[in-house]
Amino acid sequence: MPSTAPRRVLVTSALPYANGQIHIGHLVEYIQTDVWVRALRMHGHEVHYVGADDTHGTPIMLRAEKEGITPRQLIERVWQEHKRDFDSFGISFDNYYSTDSEENRVLSEQVYLALKDAGLIVERDVEQAYDPVREMFLPDRFIKGECPKCGAKDQYGDSCEVCGSTYAPTDLKNPYSVVSGATPVRRTSTHHFFKLSDPRCENFLRGWVAKLAQPEATNKMREWLGDSGDAKLADWDISRDAPYFGFEIPGAPGKYFYVWLDAPVGYYASFKNLCDKRGLNFEEWVRPGSDTEQYHFIGKDILYFHTLFWPAMLEFSGHRTPTNVFAHGFLTVDGQKMSKSRGTFITAQSFIDNGLNAEWLRYYFAAKLNGSMEDIDLNFGDFIARVNSDLVGKYINIASRAAGFLVKRFGGRIDDAAMSHALLAQLREAVPTVAALYEQRDYSKALRQTMELADTVNGYVDTVKPWELAKDPARAQALHEACSVSLEAFRLLTLMLKPVLPLLAASVENFLAIAPLKWSDASTALSSQQPVNAYQHLMTRVDQKQVDALIAANQESLQATPGDIQPGGEGARNVAGVEAQGAKAPKAAKAAKTAASSAGGDEGDGVISIDDFSKIDLRIALIVDCKAVAGSDKLLQLTLDVGEEKTRNVFSGIKSAYQPEQLVGKLTVMVANLAPRKMKFGLSEGMVLAASAADEKAQPGLYILEPNSGAKPGMRVR
Ligand SMILES: [Zn+2]
Repeated sequence: MPSTAPRRVLVTSALPYANGQIHIGHLVEYIQTDVWVRALRMHGHEVHYVGADDTHGTPIMLRAEKEGITPRQLIERVWQEHKRDFDSFGISFDNYYSTDSEENRVLSEQVYLALKDAGLIVERDVEQAYDPVREMFLPDRFIKGECPKCGAKDQYGDSCEVCGSTYAPTDLKNPYSVVSGATPVRRTSTHHFFKLSDPRCENFLRGWVAKLAQPEATNKMREWLGDSGDAKLADWDISRDAPYFGFEIPGAPGKYFYVWLDAPVGYYASFKNLCDKRGLNFEEWVRPGSDTEQYHFIGKDILYFHTLFWPAMLEFSGHRTPTNVFAHGFLTVDGQKMSKSRGTFITAQSFIDNGLNAEWLRYYFAAKLNGSMEDIDLNFGDFIARVNSDLVGKYINIASRAAGFLVKRFGGRIDDAAMSHALLAQLREAVPTVAALYEQRDYSKALRQTMELADTVNGYVDTVKPWELAKDPARAQALHEACSVSLEAFRLLTLMLKPVLPLLAASVENFLAIAPLKWSDASTALSSQQPVNAYQHLMTRVDQKQVDALIAANQESLQATPGDIQPGGEGARNVAGVEAQGAKAPKAAKAAKTAASSAGGDEGDGVISIDDFSKIDLRIALIVDCKAVAGSDKLLQLTLDVGEEKTRNVFSGIKSAYQPEQLVGKLTVMVANLAPRKMKFGLSEGMVLAASAADEKAQPGLYILEPNSGAKPGMRVR
C-alpha cells in the first residue's frame, strides 16, 4: 500500500467569486480536488480540505449597489447558494468560509506588514481613468466608448467587437464610465506594489519552481522567470483606492488591498477558522519548515497567481510555502466553449433540479481527468453511454445479479471458503495500484483499470451462470460460491470507486452491512458472520430526455436573467443581449483573471460568422530568407514576400521542427493583418501557420502549411 505512514495534509480549491452561480465548469475543479481528498482520507491520513467564497472587489460592490443591497448581504446570499451546490455534488469541504472574515483581515495585514518590513512593498504613482461623478477609479472593463478605428459605439476599452482591432483605453473616442455615464478623466494616485522584481523573489522562485509536479507548470514558470539575470517579473499592484469593497491597508487610509491579495490568504483564513473550531494548532501548519503538506488545486488561468505571487508572499512573510500546485484545464461541452445560447452554460443547481444524479457527473469528469492541464470535454452522448454502460451495465449489474440468490437461498450469508477465489486475489492486488493512481491524479487510468476488472468479474459471472445453477438443487454449493465471489468482487470494485462515488459507496456499505470502506479493506473480506441486506436499487440509467431537459432549462434561465453579471466578470454585461444582436461573445477570459476563481467555462459559444473569418487576411507567402535567432532556442526569423513592395519580417516558434535552409524558397500561409508585435529580437509583422497535435507533449511535431503548386506570393487564402 503506498504512503501508509500518516501524513498531515491541507488541500484547497480555488475560491469562487461571490457574484455568480457555480456551473459545471467550476465543478471540474471541485470534483477533481474532492476525489483526491477522499482518496487520501481512505489511507487514514489527516486531511483538511478548505475553501471559501472570494468576496471583495469592484464587481461585488457595484452589483450589490445595482440590486439595492449591501455587499455583505450579497455575499451572504451567494455563500448560501455556493454551499448548497457544493453539498449537492458531494464536495467534502471541512470548512467553507469567506474572504470577508476577521481571520482574513488579520492574516492579510500580517502578510502585508511582514512584506513591508522585508522591504518588499513600494509605493508608486499610477495614472488611471477616474469617474468624476461616481468619484471612483475605473478598471478598464468599466470604460466604454467609440472604436478609434471603425467608430462602432459602446466598445470596451481594450478591443472592438465590431472590427476586431485592439487598442488602449485611452484611444477610445468619446469614452464614458459604465458606472455613471460620465466622461472619465485621468487622475494620479499612489499605489502599493509588491516588489516581485526584487532579486530575492527571483532567486527564491527559481528554486521553488523545481517543486512543481506538472511539467507544463514548470515550463510556464521558466518562461515567466526568463533566463537567469534577465528576470522579467514585474512588480505587482496590490492596492486599490476607495470606494472599494475590501480590507483597508493598515497605515494607508483610503487604500484597500486588491482582491487578489486577500483571496489566496483566504485559504489560510478558512483553515485558521477550522483550526479554532477543531482545536488544531494553526501555527504548526503554516510556519516555515512545517512537516505538514499544503496543496492548491487551481485552473490553469490562475497559475501565475499561485506559482509566483502566492509562494513569494508566503516565503517573505515568514510562512511555509505550498508543497505543490495542481492546475487543470478548462471544460468544453460537446467540443465547444460553454454557451448560454446553446444551453450548455449549465449551473450546478439546474443539474440537480432536473433530476440528474451528481455522481454521474463526478464519474464522467473523473474518467476524463488525468492530472495534466489539458482541457476536458463533456460530450453528452458519451456521458450517457459511459454512465449507463460502465456504472449501471458493468458495475451495479454485478450486485443485482448476485444478491437476490444469496439473500433468498442462503439467508444473505457469504460462503467464507469462496473468499480465497483467484478472481478475488486479482482484484485485491489491483487496489494499491488504483489507490496510487488517484494520488497521482490520474483518475482516468484508475477508473479504466477498475472497469477492466469489472469486465473480468462479469466474464466470471457469465461463465458460472448463477441463474442456471439456481435451477438445479444439487448445485446449491456452486451457486453459493458464485454469488459469494460476485458480491465480494462487487465490494472490492466499490472500494476502488469510492473516492469518485461516495454516496453510492455509502449505499453499498449499508447494503453489505459493512463499516465505511478504506484502502486497507483490500485485505479484509465479506463474512458469513454478517449477512448482507436485501439488494436495494443503487443507481438508475441516464435518460436522453433528462439531458434534453437540462439543456432546455439552461436556455430558459438565460431569458429569465438577462442582466446577470457573469461569474468572474469585472463588469455588468448583458450577455443575452449581446448574443441576440449577433455580436461576438464577450471576452470573459480576460475579465476572469480579476477573480480568484477560474474553474473554466468562459462565455461564448466558439462559433464565428463568415464576417468574423473574413477579417483574417491570410496570404500566400514566399520564404525568401530564413535565419536562426541568436539567443532564442525556439524562434526562426523569416523574411517573407507577400506580394507587397517590401518584404515582411516574422519571428516564428518553429525552430524545433526546421533547419533554416530547409525553408528558404518554400511557399507558406501567413496572417497578414495581425497587429505587429514588438519582440526582444525585433518587430514581428505577422504569423505563419503551422499544424501540431492538440497534445504536443504526447505527439511532438510541427508542420508549416504549404499550398499546392500554382499559388503565388500575395494571393489571398479564403
Ligand atoms: Zn472597431
